[in-house]
Parts: sequence; structure tokens; C-alpha cells
Amino acid sequence: MIFLGIESSCDDTAAALVTGDRRILSSVVSSQTALHADFGGIVPEIAARAHAERLDLAVEQALAEAGLSLDAVTGIAVTAGPGLIGGVMAGVMCAKGIAAGTGLPLVGVNHLAGHALTPRLTDGVDFPYLMLLVSGGHCQFLRVDGPDAFTRLGGTIDDAPGEAFDKLAKLLALPQPGGPQVEAEAAQGDPRRFPLPRPLLDRPGCDLSFSGLKTAALRQRDALIAAQGGLRTTDRRDLCAAFQSAVAEVLAEKSRRALVLSPVPLLAVAGGVAANVQIRAALEHVAAEAGARFLAPPLRLCTDNGAMIAWAGIERFRLGHRDGMDLAARPRWPLDGRAAPMLGHGK
Ligand code: ATP
Ligand code: FE
Repeated sequence: MIFLGIESSCDDTAAALVTGDRRILSSVVSSQTALHADFGGIVPEIAARAHAERLDLAVEQALAEAGLSLDAVTGIAVTAGPGLIGGVMAGVMCAKGIAAGTGLPLVGVNHLAGHALTPRLTDGVDFPYLMLLVSGGHCQFLRVDGPDAFTRLGGTIDDAPGEAFDKLAKLLALPQPGGPQVEAEAAQGDPRRFPLPRPLLDRPGCDLSFSGLKTAALRQRDALIAAQGGLRTTDRRDLCAAFQSAVAEVLAEKSRRALVLSPVPLLAVAGGVAANVQIRAALEHVAAEAGARFLAPPLRLCTDNGAMIAWAGIERFRLGHRDGMDLAARPRWPLDGRAAPMLGHGK
């Protein structure tokens, strides 16, 4: 079995070919970072137009890199939400066009399910497991019991952690994306100099909050500027170190609680923030203490990509899911019916 996966829900146009026995034959990701760089954020209209222009090319390239034609493909999986609606629509239209032209089955995939099922693609893990999704647009704990059986244990009530890293970088005049920059500065800083809060640790459960942390960092910055007339290199490094430690501590404590609420043998992470070494180490420690395995898939499969969509499509296809030409693009699509609507990024 070979599935074509198409992803266009945010600022990456991606297509990939994946087999039923977990081989990634090709994975093409065309990033739009440069297109949005001047605007300080993703501009939905620009993203949608760029997806529409690039999708066919990404699919052609994925087929070429795998050395296959559409004749060899079993089905087409496409992200049908959640995400920026113009981009999701462009992907769904592209997938429908191919399905109509070839007669191949079409499977709509939830973008978050793509991330959540990635450990099954990379490492063939069994259900159940716990997934902590930490990216620029998402932050949630999911208990994964099957290809379409997800329980949301908690998540951010405001910003996603990647978004918070990016905002801190902006406050400190560091380049975007902020996460890697903040991590590099933090490596040379003292995390104890600035006392930053540990939001929501005083409340039970697995919900998280990051906007207060950013505001506290802003206050520290402004106090330094008022007192000294500007920021010194050490100030910047110490603020980054304090911020990163606070995020790591909060993510670790909430993961510990999630593993108490839902004792499963594996804690997995996905999303760009999982690249952070301190955060990764903190989560690994929590998993070890709970007697669970820790798994962080390779970064190119942790961030947005088409392979995870192809794989989620294969898993859904095996359960008998098929979609028709009426498959809708959905800006919001919680993974579990009980989930509260996500705030921030419209997801
Ligand atoms: P999604 O739609 O999945 O939310 P996204 O593009 O917003 O997609 P990702 O590509 O998964 O998110 O990750 C990008 C985010 O990860 C950015 O906010 C970036 O700052 C953050 N990030 C990347 N590397 C690091 C790091 N080393 N430390 C902390 N944050 C990081
Ligand atoms: Fe994503």
C-alpha cells in the first residue's frame, strides 16, 4: 500500500509518499518563511495563494523523488483541518482533483492526528501512548488509544509555547523564528537571575498558559531599559535562560500530571519546540520517573510535513474511512468531541 499525503494548513506546502509498512519514499516540504518574513507573522491570503501555486509542484516532486507515477498509489490523504482555511481549501481541492482524475480513494485527515500518530510511523509504537504537541500554533496533551481515538487531557489556555518563544525573541530584538535563538542565548545565561512565574502550576490538571510568562519577561526587560538605558548581552542571555527554564519546568510538571492521570508506557512529543534540548531533557526525566519510555521523532517529522498526513491517511483507510467529493475544509476541528475550542492561531 502506498499513500500520497498532502499538507497545507499553515505555512508549509508539503507532499509525501509513504508505504503501509512505514517507509517514507519521499517527503517534500516547501517552506513559506521567506514570503512572510516582512510581515511579522503569517499572512493568510499570501499563504493560501502560495499553497495554490506550489501544491501541484510538490506532488510532482514527491512522485519524482520516489520514482513513481500515480498508478502506483493506493490512496490520497489530505489535511482537511484545522488550520488557515485558505490553505486547507487549496490542499483539499488539489487532493480532490487528483482523486477525481484517477479514481483513487480520498481520505481527509485531521492535522493534529497527523502529528499525534507520527510515533507509529517513525517507531511503530503500540497504543496507548501520551502525545505532547508543542509547536508554534499548538500545545496539548493527547492520550492516543487508536487511529481515531484521542482524548485531550489539557492544553494551553492562551499562547502556544513556540509562539511564546517567538514573542520573547521579538521583545529582545532577536531574529525569527525565535525558539532556536532564545535557546542559543539561554545556553550562556543564568536562569536564576530573573524570577519568572510558573503559570498554572498552582492549579490542578494539565492546562497550561504562556502569555503571562511573556508579559513577566516584558516587565523585566522594561525595568532594565529604564534603569540602564538599554539591554546588555548578559541581560538578554539571563532573560532567555529564565524563560526557557520556566517553560521547561511547566511542561515537565504538567507532563508528570498527565502521566499520573493516564499512566501509559510511552510519552512522545511533536512540534518544533521539541527541538529544545533543555525541554527535551526535562520531559525525558519525567518519563523515566514515571517508568515510561520517551520518544521524540526526528525534527523533520515533528514539524509540519506530508509524511505524517500520508501515514494518518493509511491508518484511517485501514479502519475503513473514505471521503467523497463533499469532503469539507475545516478551520477548527478538535480531535476529541469534548475538547474546548483552542485559543490563539485559530486552531
Ligand atoms: P503548527 O501548525 O504545527 O503549529 P508551526 O510552524 O507553528 O506549525 P512548528 O514548525 O512545529 O510550528 O514549530 C515552529 C515553532 O517551534 C516556532 O515557534 C519556533 O520558535 C519553535 N522552535 C523551534 N526550535 C525551537 C527550540 N530550539 N526551542 C524552542 N522553540 C523552538
Ligand atoms: Fe503542525
